[in-house]
Amino acid sequence: MKVRTATLALSCLSLFVTVFPAQAAQVPPSAICADLKTGVIKNLETATCPRNSWDLGIAPLLPGVERPQKFDPVMAHRIAALQVAAKNAGFAIGIRSGWRSMDVQKRMFNAAVVKYGSAKVARRWVLPANESMHTWGLAVDFKLGADHAKAFKWLEANSFRYGLCRKYKNEWWHFEPTTTPGVRCPAKLTNAAG
Ligand SMILES: [Zn+2]
Repeated sequence: MKVRTATLALSCLSLFVTVFPAQAAQVPPSAICADLKTGVIKNLETATCPRNSWDLGIAPLLPGVERPQKFDPVMAHRIAALQVAAKNAGFAIGIRSGWRSMDVQKRMFNAAVVKYGSAKVARRWVLPANESMHTWGLAVDFKLGADHAKAFKWLEANSFRYGLCRKYKNEWWHFEPTTTPGVRCPAKLTNAAG
């Protein structure tokens, strides 16, 4: 009886593998690209994106060796693609703050320490220059146009498609490229202090 059950289980398994071979053989795309006009995303098996599209990268974006003087180029693509897609959906999503120099971030952090009374509390809202992803060109603070609530809903529901994730529960506007485009975002942290 046990042997029969095992045989049955095995033949069910082989049937499953035969019927759903794609699930076992799924390979990650070589390029994830967004159309310049529509923001529509295509996963490609070839390594380069066509000329009329942005290359969104195929993994979360990480800091490099030296701090840049502007947005990380792939981060800029992700933001641009999200903005175009939002526009086509009827929402204006702008940038309130993007890349920041070390000096600007230092000044912001010092001002926050004065405002909140301690570095410990200030960190919930502004990180020191050497920790902030804004100084790596890997963070963006969005601003929303009219119809704020609907635009916010759209942003929350769709940012992962462009590889952008809201990172903190206390900052609806702050997004980082912490996912692969199309892969759901990691859980939000309470705030930047941890
Ligand atoms: Zn921010």
